[in-house]
This record gives sequence, C-alpha cells and structure tokens, in this order.
Amino acid sequence: MRTKKQYIEGLSKMKRNLFINGERIGRDDERFIPSYNVMGTTFELAAKPEYEGFLTATSHLTGKKINRFTHIHQNKEDLHKKQDMTRLYCQVVGGCVQRCMGVDAANAIYTVSYEGDKENKGETQYHENFKKWLERFQTEDLVGCCAQTDVKGDRMLRPHQQPDPDSYVHVVEKNKDGIVVSGAKLHISESAIADEILVVPTRALVEADKDYAVSFAIPGDWDGLKHLVTIHNFRDRKYFPKGFNSGSNDSYLIFDNVFVPWERVFLCGEYQHGGILALLFALFHRHSYSGCKPALGDLMLGTCALAADANGISKAKHVASKYAEIIKVTELGYAAGFTASELGKPEVYMPGKGFIAYGPGNYIPHSIYANVGRCLTGEAVFHEMEMLADISGGIPATFPHEGEFVNPETAEFAKKYTTRSSKMSSENQAQLWRHVGDLACSAKGGIACFGALHGGGSPRMEEIAITSQYDIETRKDIVRKIAGMTKD
Ligand SMILES: Cc1cc2nc3c(=O)[nH]c(=O)nc-3n(C[C@H](O)[C@H](O)[C@H](O)COP(=O)(O)OP(=O)(O)OC[C@H]3O[C@@H](n4cnc5c(N)ncnc54)[C@H](O)[C@@H]3O)c2cc1C
Repeated sequence: MRTKKQYIEGLSKMKRNLFINGERIGRDDERFIPSYNVMGTTFELAAKPEYEGFLTATSHLTGKKINRFTHIHQNKEDLHKKQDMTRLYCQVVGGCVQRCMGVDAANAIYTVSYEGDKENKGETQYHENFKKWLERFQTEDLVGCCAQTDVKGDRMLRPHQQPDPDSYVHVVEKNKDGIVVSGAKLHISESAIADEILVVPTRALVEADKDYAVSFAIPGDWDGLKHLVTIHNFRDRKYFPKGFNSGSNDSYLIFDNVFVPWERVFLCGEYQHGGILALLFALFHRHSYSGCKPALGDLMLGTCALAADANGISKAKHVASKYAEIIKVTELGYAAGFTASELGKPEVYMPGKGFIAYGPGNYIPHSIYANVGRCLTGEAVFHEMEMLADISGGIPATFPHEGEFVNPETAEFAKKYTTRSSKMSSENQAQLWRHVGDLACSAKGGIACFGALHGGGSPRMEEIAITSQYDIETRKDIVRKIAGMTKD
C-alpha cells in the first residue's frame, strides 16, 4: 500500500495533458492541493492499525493486504464495509471522498468481463486481461476514476442514430494489437489526479450500437487523451484556516483517436453486456452513495445545529422539525444501503428473467434498495440546503472577508456586528459562517449539489431502474384478492 506522498510523486511523473482556462498544466499545479488533501486521506487513514480490515481488505487474487478502494467485494460483509468506509471518509473530508468511482467501476468491469468471455465461448480474454490489470491496481494501490458519461447529443436518439458518432465514445478501428477509440466522456471526477481511467458505456445498447459497447483502462496521461479540467476549491483562507481544506476537480476527457492495446480492453462489441456494464457501474455507485449521502446528512445536521446555536434558536420548533427531516433522510438512505448490502448476491436483474446469476461470484448490492436509497436521498440535497439557508438567515451570503477581522480599522466592528448568541465565542461564530458560506454560497458548494443530485445518474434514471425491476404485477394480485376481483 502507498502513502499520500508516494501517490503524489507518482502523478508528478505523468505527461502534461491537463488543460485549464487556456493553460497546459502539470499534476503538480498548486490548485490541486485541496484535491490531494481529500484523496490523500484514503492513503493516510488506511495505514492506521485501528482501521485494518475495515479500510483495508485481503485481495482475492494475491491474498495480500490492499486498500479497500481497490477491492472486489467477495461477500455481504465487504458490501457493508464499503458503505461504512464511505460514510467514515466523507465525514473526515467534509464531503465526497472522490475515490469510490474507481472501485465501483472495477467491480462492475470484473463482473461483466467474465460474462463477455462466456458469451464468446473462450475466444476473448477480457476477464483475464482485467484480472492482470486489477492485480497491478491493487498491488500498486492505484487511484482509478470512472469515465462513463458520454456527450449523448440528442437525448432521444440511440448512439448509432446520433448525427455525430463522437456523441458516444466508440471503436473506430480494430487491429491485431488493439483498438482505436474516439469521442469524449464528460464531468469525470478526479481524472486529472487519477493513475488510471476506467471507461464504461453509459446506457443500454442495441446491436447497431455494438461499436459503443467498449470498456478499457488507460493511464491518465495516455497518448491522445486530453483533460479539460475544472478545479473546485473554496475561497483561499489567509488568517483563519479551515480544519480540513477539501477540493475536487472534474474534466471533459477527450479521446482523440486513442489506441488501446488488447490487454487493456475488457469489452468490445458485446452490446448486451455493454448495457449491463452501464447499469452495473451505476448500481455499485448508487450503493456507494448510501455511504456518502448519510455522511453528507451528518455534516448537514451538524452545520444546521451549530447555525441554530449561533443564532440562539436551537429550541425553536421549526428548527427541531428540520433536524428530524435531515435525520429521516440520512438514516433511511443508510438503511436502504445496509439492506442492499445484506441482500447482495452474485446476481443481476435481467428484464423478463428477474434476478439471475451473473459474473464469477463477486457480490453485487441489491438493485432495488440501492436505487430507492439513492433516489430518495439525492432528491433531498437542494431541500437540505434550503433548510440550512432558513436556519442561518442571510449571514453566510454576505459575511465580511477575513481581512476585515484583522484590519485594526475594522476588526472590532466586524467582530461586534457578526456576533449573535453569547453562548458561542465570536471567533467560533465567524468560523462557522465562513464554513456555511463555503458550503452553501460558493461555486464549489453549488457544484457539489449538482454532483450529489446527478452522480451515478439523474433521478429519473433511478426511477426507471426501480419501476422496471420492481414486481408491480404481484402487488396488483394482492389488491385483486382483497378487492374481490378476478384477473382479466
Ligand atoms: C459534479 C459532477 C461529477 C460527476 N462525476 C462523474 C464521474 O466521475 N464519472 C461519470 O461518468 N460521470 C460523472 N458525472 C456525470 C453524471 O453521472 C451525469 O451528470 C448524470 O448521469 C446525468 O447525465 P447528464 O449530465 O448527461 O444529464 P442528462 O442525462 O441529459 O439529464 C438531463 C435531463 O434530461 C433527462 N433525460 C436524459 N435522457 C433522457 C431520455 N432519453 N428521455 C427522457 N429524459 C431524459 C434527465 O432525466 C434529466 O431530467 C458527474 C456529474 C457531476 C455534476
């Protein structure tokens, strides 16, 4: 397992294929420091003896100790631990821990590459290729990101129907050494600071879409790959630092006729499995959300409660009912994820067939519970921000800059006129409102809300997963019996 320092040193050797606002930058750009604070935590905490077996796991390939963010879930316990690990990390870094996309993609590809080979009756070696890649991923403790979301052009058209074939990443050439792919993947979190980019399809595919049924992994600085990066950091602090300064970054990933050797290709043309891979990554990722969203709920509840203390309104009835709302969503989301882990099996839902055995035996969370939890809690994100805004009042939106609290000409006024309750020190109140401003009134705060709503698929996609998999007919039969009806 690596240290944070070794991870950053590894990235600093990569080619400079990152672009931001007209500049070409390296991975040593200082604006990435807050992102490294977040990702680095996944190395630092995993090295602590008290977290052995929780933030680490035993590789089923090598028997060695590995970071749980590189593990393939072997049983229910692993699914439970992934959920709890995610909640813990997100509490520590104060938001998204950013490393779950890689582990979720790895679990999905591990499963589907096996079925792809089975369909091809041994003519392909996708699964063996992936296992070799995975062994290195685990042994070298690499950070992966998941490139799923395509440009998608006209949302009502399938990939092969789009006027521009690059609307979805696709294979433009196959030869004896490998494949060449073209297109772009959008909004890809942490690709700029990931060792490896895992590519999976976005959606269900039909036979005419088979060039779009492609999955592979390439290093972040691979030839032909460009990252158009946006970095999301909080306003710089000079005098009153945050306890944990987190940041994130997302990129438009451009695949400009990228060559991928066969040993890095895990699916190529098997359109049915391509569609399952899209859904399976989304499923693993929605299950991760049952760890991170409860942590966001913990953070939101703590922030609201401190804001109420600062305003002296903790005992007000409308405040208590807001706490109850946050707790209900937080713990229902956790419970849904817990159930998804507990009912996890090496099975997927197949339309018309129900749940069937799928993959080489690794564990997959139950999709109904992962989806209902994700959908319910994701849709609560903006409402929770509204509750924080209500409890806070206007103060975080226009809070004076730090400098006003140190400039002798203004410091006393700034302190006097930002202090509310006498039960909390003025300094703590100021730190709290700066923090609330970061969460709720900053560009980073807004971006995080969009990510929390859309990550793993927009709410409608979760509703489709839920309603297409849930047995509504059985519920109709239950009611027919009670109502005294017959089946028409
Ligand atoms: C901060 C952030 C981080 C992200 N990180 C990642 C990442 O690491 N990896 C990754 O792969 N993706 C990532 N995403 C992308 C995320 O998964 C997508 O935003 C999400 O899947 C929605 O896709 P979209 O943005 O294309 O919106 P759309 O899918 O276009 O959704 C817009 C609206 O159109 C509707 N719609 C779309 N298609 C149809 C249709 N056929 N019929 C009817 N209605 C339709 C949707 O329901 C929604 O209401 C990230 C997004 C954000 C905001």
